[in-house]
Amino acid sequence: AKTLAKPRIFLPHLVASLEQVDETYIMVKPDGVQRGLVGEIISRFEKKGFKLTGLKLFQCPQDLAEEHYKDLKGKSFFPKLIEYIVSGPVVCMAWEGVGVVAAARKLIGATNPLQAEPGTIRGDLAVQTGRNVVHGSDSPENGKREIALWFKEGELCQWTPAQAPWLRE
Ligand code: ADP
Repeated sequence: AKTLAKPRIFLPHLVASLEQVDETYIMVKPDGVQRGLVGEIISRFEKKGFKLTGLKLFQCPQDLAEEHYKDLKGKSFFPKLIEYIVSGPVVCMAWEGVGVVAAARKLIGATNPLQAEPGTIRGDLAVQTGRNVVHGSDSPENGKREIALWFKEGELCQWTPAQAPWLRE
């Protein structure tokens, strides 16, 4: 295979701007909050190196839960799913980074926790699909849609973590 000549001028700001920064909506579901897993779950995304841009503890109303899961409206488990999501407070998070949507799905693991790999959040911390402790957006488009749905504009924070140059060259 042809090898590319090494660039002589290093322009990190230009290289960084060419990469697509995505956003994802991550939520600790009511079972995760009740079981005291909030810190553990936040920690996994934090340690990976993604940037937290929104965070709140929130009692989700019925209509918001239905809007969030509107694509599943025809499913037999839909009423139970909505009941589960509104059954107690959730922790809403917005995370940003290159490839964050797909990477977060990997960190979370398969929908059925018994099929989720050890090392993933669901693989390590849950046993049942109906109590799978965490949500993560399934596409960059849904990431944007869900963040707009769960957060008001003033609740999101744009900032540059001090660790940025230690995380990405
Ligand atoms: P994911 O959350 O992994 O993206 P889905 O979008 O397919 O999975 O489903 C959304 C949520 O609905 C799941 O995380 C789970 O809480 C619930 N759910 C999905 N399938 C079932 C099922 N067969 N029985 C009960 N709950 C389910």
